[in-house]
Amino acid sequence: MEKDCIFCKISRKEIPSKMVYADEEVLAFEDINPQAPVHIVIIPKKHIEKTSDITEGDIGLIGKLVFVAQKIAKEKNVSDSGYRLVFNCNKDAGQAVFHIHLHLLGGRKFFWPPG
Ligand code: AMP
Ligand code: ZN
Repeated sequence: MEKDCIFCKISRKEIPSKMVYADEEVLAFEDINPQAPVHIVIIPKKHIEKTSDITEGDIGLIGKLVFVAQKIAKEKNVSDSGYRLVFNCNKDAGQAVFHIHLHLLGGRKFFWPPG
């Protein structure tokens, strides 16, 4: 837990969020600035800054983020139409919050290359 990390603060319920999933290790909440009709952020409660910092011991936890994301995609009815899962890492990818998070985006068409 990092004192000043916005997602650690959400995890500690120090700032509000629209939570869609929570267990002992993982949380998912609605993105405050949605880029698609469905835009959910899935995080581990453990403070890991970015994908570059994942260790071997985190493999199960990171896999769980994807598992939770696909369950939420079904609940939000975007599983059949399609969705995008995104980890942004560091400056060139536009990472703004340095607590690892998986974006679940759905409900519209996405393009490739992503730009
Ligand atoms: P990234 O650019 O991958 O670091 O994405 C960070 C995401 O966190 C952005 O999509 C923000 O809109 C989102 N975000 C920032 N603060 C909050 C918050 N308090 N509650 C929900 N989502 C947030
Ligand atoms: Zn954090």
